Amino acid sequence: MAYPVDLHTHSLRSDGVHEPAELVRIAAERGVQVLAMSDHDTLAGVAEALAAGERHGVRTIASTELNTESEWGDVHVLGYFLDPHDDALEERLRWLRENRGRRIELMVENLERLGYPVLIDRVREIAQGGALGRPHLAQALFEAGHVTSYDAAFDTLISKDAPGYVARVGLTPLEAVELVRKHGGVPSLAHPFTVDGLEALLPQLVAAGLAGMECYYGSHSVSSTVEYRRLARQHDLVPTGGSDFHGRGEHGRLPGGVFVPEECVAALEARKRTTPPASIPA
Ligand code: AMP
Ligand code: FE
Ligand code: FE
Ligand code: ZN
Repeated sequence: MAYPVDLHTHSLRSDGVHEPAELVRIAAERGVQVLAMSDHDTLAGVAEALAAGERHGVRTIASTELNTESEWGDVHVLGYFLDPHDDALEERLRWLRENRGRRIELMVENLERLGYPVLIDRVREIAQGGALGRPHLAQALFEAGHVTSYDAAFDTLISKDAPGYVARVGLTPLEAVELVRKHGGVPSLAHPFTVDGLEALLPQLVAAGLAGMECYYGSHSVSSTVEYRRLARQHDLVPTGGSDFHGRGEHGRLPGGVFVPEECVAALEARKRTTPPASIPA
């Protein structure tokens, strides 16, 4: 059996491999009771996940993961309790997805020059309409026989230090936190070990509205969880966590595969800010 709360998972709407309803079903079968489907730069699967959640008795939380890349390393911001019908938010997410697409096209061009040709159409086919990302490219590289495994594609060709890599264009870490807050969501910092200079950045993120930090994550050791919990307490952040399940058996655990304290869901929800009415009648 799994732990009952999982606040970080991915479906086919971004770089996971399962349809949203299938992801919810898998989570439900494992005993997950509260699930956040946090696809990168999209809320496209939320309606399907919510409906599946009702069928399976899983409370499903609308969320997204905004990946940023800057001098702070990889700062990924999870945004919870967002509204998939918020058109202004969707416009910003669409811009991020377009940037994702262009970045992958540039990587495909790079790889071609390096002697590892793949078809961009095949990469898009693998993504099945989901927000494009390096996992789709990794699969295409594996299929084309350029690498011996999906992981090897990252290790040798498309990880940050590898020759095929192209940097992301998008939001800064502060902008990601602000975007979530502007649209009524609750931001939490994902897998803090990928941040360079965490202790220097945290006060800035907190000032921008950060409400949580992923203290519970599959690859954290007990001592790093303790350290992240200390930092969370110091900055008054809700300790969150999740599996980061994508479905390929790569990095990330199975849904509910990481202990996350049940009380963190209510604590996160309590960090929602009610926006004041636009105009107060005289
Ligand atoms: P992108 O957003 O296109 O930069 O892709 C980032 C995604 O790639 C992450 O969300 C993970 O799903 C995956 N990823 C990143 N690094 C690795 C790695 N070393 N091995 C496997 N998957 C990875
Ligand atoms: Fe991912
Ligand atoms: Fe991430
Ligand atoms: Zn993720």
